[in-house]
Amino acid sequence: MPDTSQMTPPTPANPLLVAWQTPFSTPPFAEIRPEHFLPAFEQAFADHSAEIAAITQDPATPDFANTITALERAGKLLTKVSAVFYDLVSAHSNPAILEIDKEVSLRMARHWNPIMMNAVLFGRIAVLRENRKGLSLTAEEMRLLERTYTRFHRAGAGLGEDAKKRMAEINERLAHLGTSFSHHLLADEQEWFLELGDDDRAGLSDSFVAAAKAAADERGLSGKAIVTLSRSAVEPFLKSSARRDLREKVFKAFTARGDNGNANDNNAAIVEILSLREESAGILGYPTYAAYRLEDSMAKTPEAVRGLLERVWKPARARALADRDALQALIAEEGGNFALAPWDWRYYSEKLRQAKANFDDAAIKPYLALDHMIEAAFDCASRLFGISFAERKDIPVWHPDVRVWEVRGREGRPKALFYGDYFARSSKRSGAWMTSLRDQQKLDGEVVPLILNICNFVKGADGEPSLLSPDDARTLFHEFGHGLHGMLSNVTYPSLSGTSVFTDFVELPSQLYEHWQERPEVLQRFARHHQTGEPLPEDLLARFLAARKFNQGFATVEFVSSALIDLEFHTQPAAASRDVRAFERAEMTKIGMPEEIALRHRPQQFGHIFSGDHYAAGYYSYMWSEVMDADAFGAFEEAGNIFDPVVAKRLHDDIYSSGGSVDPEAAYVAFRGREPEPEALLRRRGLLETPKAA
Ligand SMILES: [Zn+2]
Repeated sequence: MPDTSQMTPPTPANPLLVAWQTPFSTPPFAEIRPEHFLPAFEQAFADHSAEIAAITQDPATPDFANTITALERAGKLLTKVSAVFYDLVSAHSNPAILEIDKEVSLRMARHWNPIMMNAVLFGRIAVLRENRKGLSLTAEEMRLLERTYTRFHRAGAGLGEDAKKRMAEINERLAHLGTSFSHHLLADEQEWFLELGDDDRAGLSDSFVAAAKAAADERGLSGKAIVTLSRSAVEPFLKSSARRDLREKVFKAFTARGDNGNANDNNAAIVEILSLREESAGILGYPTYAAYRLEDSMAKTPEAVRGLLERVWKPARARALADRDALQALIAEEGGNFALAPWDWRYYSEKLRQAKANFDDAAIKPYLALDHMIEAAFDCASRLFGISFAERKDIPVWHPDVRVWEVRGREGRPKALFYGDYFARSSKRSGAWMTSLRDQQKLDGEVVPLILNICNFVKGADGEPSLLSPDDARTLFHEFGHGLHGMLSNVTYPSLSGTSVFTDFVELPSQLYEHWQERPEVLQRFARHHQTGEPLPEDLLARFLAARKFNQGFATVEFVSSALIDLEFHTQPAAASRDVRAFERAEMTKIGMPEEIALRHRPQQFGHIFSGDHYAAGYYSYMWSEVMDADAFGAFEEAGNIFDPVVAKRLHDDIYSSGGSVDPEAAYVAFRGREPEPEALLRRRGLLETPKAA
């Protein structure tokens, strides 16, 4: 018999199922193909289920090690495969990946339901919690026990069998609906673009047109220039296009995403999601879904959230109305004979800003080259936390535009890898986010985290550098702040790592980091002209900083109205929102929404609250965190040095490195020495002074 093993080439192993022979054991993206995912998930589910069975069948009396720590160790493969998969789903998908995503989201719900509702497992956790005082646990272990118990309890582990069965059905259906919600949104974004002929470019900067050409290239429309529905293309277009008709077209397409009555329409999904959430909250014993969600947050109750939002809403609305009158006056001054419409706001407020503050975004963009801003973000982190960054060209990535840096700690040891995927492309969903391919932990030895920032900046055309708008630069710092929360994490247990904190606390590290971006000390050094290398001129810097508070009424109204409608969706009976558009209109009338301003996220495109439940009844979180970040930066101002080493050390120890190992309120008070004062937020947004009557 011939030795056949010499003749047939061996089937290449599934790269998701073998140990990764790459530097830092990072995912070998070039080898991973869509067809590898389902078999890998299959194996991962089986492994995890076996690990859970081993815990529940353990004849030994439950203790912290054989139950809580064992749970923390379980599911390694599932975590590993999921991280790679969801990175691709969000940042570089294709039809095959999206098809698999539908299957995976369902399988994921089916896998987790029996674990989270496992009565034996929950019994072991509950007994430990009951006897926690006698277990001599460290503070982190005590927190982990409490969080684990809460997680299982809130998932319905203590319910009767019938209720559990219904909860499982609801979870499966919600997983399906959330996935299709985001697929619809992506499809509506991919299907639409506006071609800019030579006559359609009035008011647009050269860099905008270059970017519009790059966007056309990316969609195989070489030689043309297009506006896509990416926010980072839409907002600058609305700000600068002198063509009112085209602004209207782009605005309407942007705000109609997911609401076009086509195959991508999200209205029906919203109705069903809200009704299922309401039902599940009822099964778990809560009057509303918001009450259920907010119990496990810093805010604790819908009333506390509404209190904060209303406190901000009144001055913001007053400011926006005064601004509206000023914009209408400007239109009249120019001889315009029309009422300000939502697609005019950004355009005329930019004009007003140029006239009043003598500043326009286009003037500063040449000083905000992406590379310089990355350098600035890194430098601030070095000064605050003693970490350094060195680019690595040998780490596999999912797209050639992705860059990777090795991050080293003060003592020179590798602390993390940081992946930056900065440019918009049609395979990426819109927005900007931080995520990880692997989280920090040290349960079985130090694990170096792999932290990602994904943005949608417009790529420079023909090898020109990408020039950021002030908002983009702020986004870069924001996501990098989340990144630091992941990279500086210093906890033992994986489920407490980095950003595993309450949703209304998680924006503190990111929003706080934005403060450094707008400091003269930082801009003078890093905002250099991309061609001449000249630093940002003094007067432009001064005007830029003054212009920061401009249009804050609009920005605040746009945000708070979205947060309020999220809260209403989840506090009112689901039956009230059976007609989503009518509900939206009614709510906007109720709060006195200025007609010239649209919600930052209309319901049909509100992925934060409908693509999954992460920000459901939680969109307010950004503002809750802002109360803390505005107040927290004051600690550096009071020290007279924005890099003050003593304050920076507290910030590192209490906020950036502690992950979910500490109660967030206690963490904040440890850092600041007191509770946050909400006035700092209104002051920062320039909303403390009452606007003059127009
Ligand atoms: Zn954020």
